[in-house]
Amino acid sequence: MGSLLIKNALLNGKKTDILVEGNRFSSLAAPAGTVADTELDAEGMAVLPAFYNTHTHAAMSLLRGYADDLPLEKWLTEYIWPYENRMTRQDIREGSRLAVREMIRTGSVFFSDMYFDIEETLAIVQEYGLRAAIGVTFVEAHAKSQRAEKLDMLRHWVDPTGGLITLTVAPHAIYTVGPELLVQCAETARSLGLKLHIHLSETKKEVDDCVREHGMTPVRYLESLGFLGPDVIAAHVVHVDEEEAAILARRGVTVANCPCSNMKLASGIFPYRLLRDAGCRITLGTDGDSSNNNLDMREEMKFAALLAKVSSGDPEIMPASEALAVATRNGAEAFGIEAGQIREGMLADALLVRLDDERMQPCHNLVSNWVYAAGSSCIDTVLCNGRILMKDRTLLVG
Ligand SMILES: [Zn+2]
Repeated sequence: MGSLLIKNALLNGKKTDILVEGNRFSSLAAPAGTVADTELDAEGMAVLPAFYNTHTHAAMSLLRGYADDLPLEKWLTEYIWPYENRMTRQDIREGSRLAVREMIRTGSVFFSDMYFDIEETLAIVQEYGLRAAIGVTFVEAHAKSQRAEKLDMLRHWVDPTGGLITLTVAPHAIYTVGPELLVQCAETARSLGLKLHIHLSETKKEVDDCVREHGMTPVRYLESLGFLGPDVIAAHVVHVDEEEAAILARRGVTVANCPCSNMKLASGIFPYRLLRDAGCRITLGTDGDSSNNNLDMREEMKFAALLAKVSSGDPEIMPASEALAVATRNGAEAFGIEAGQIREGMLADALLVRLDDERMQPCHNLVSNWVYAAGSSCIDTVLCNGRILMKDRTLLVG
């Protein structure tokens, strides 16, 4: 991997030349006369951190618009699950391709996925050169042999990209995975040093059913099983009380907020203040295309901020800079990726955003424009691990 000089980019209010050597930022103020293998002219563009999407189901892009405006239970059992039962491996591959192309074009360089036939998604991630944490998904309904195959894959899989892709252990949810399998997933993840990825407290029904069946709420139930820990990425976490927020914080659980999906399925309102003030790391996810209906993290970031404000009645909560951190740095940190900030020594992931777009003008506050005004079509260039994935809005990969 060679060197890349990004010339004339706007960074922290100043025009500068940025040098990338190998896969890291080596200088954010390269001296005049610096030469590199590749040069990129970023005149009229700002450099901003790329997005890290911490909860999605990439291949579900094939179900975009297939079933909308339904409650979660009916949507899943009458539409999504029957459709998924008919999906072939080729479908999974093409759905993953559509999703990955969409993600790069909307500025994401990482996604945390949960689906099946993951070899197809892995192949697409490798082809397109972005980062991913691909969940090996467990549900109770799988046959024993299938479960053994999955455990075997977790033990023996080797990342062909040398650092861009990891696997996660992904028990789907407490209502699709029984207690023994949940414990087995946690033990497997911990013995292999992998993250756990689960849907948690997404709907009121999930909470009510859990109380009826186990005599306690979902967070308390997982706590009683010894499941919770700093390696857990919990998606949604909409219906929790103060004590549950404290449990999640104490265990170091990362929460993936998916505001668009929660609003569209009317699952509930993410308790941003409660979880943040308890000390949870909050990240951002789009959930699948079937319930969002896109994977656009810039849009998600705006929705997250607006929902936090209107639900708390406090316009000062989740200011633009905090919304940006949730969508970028927090997600990278949760997965141990040394990225998410434009800093010397960090992995070279970044976006070049066009300032000549009307939505980026006037520029009283760049971050405000980016969070509240822009659209992902303002993104000109996407850099991941020192490699240009998109330039002039054209994908250079795949
Ligand atoms: Zn989901």
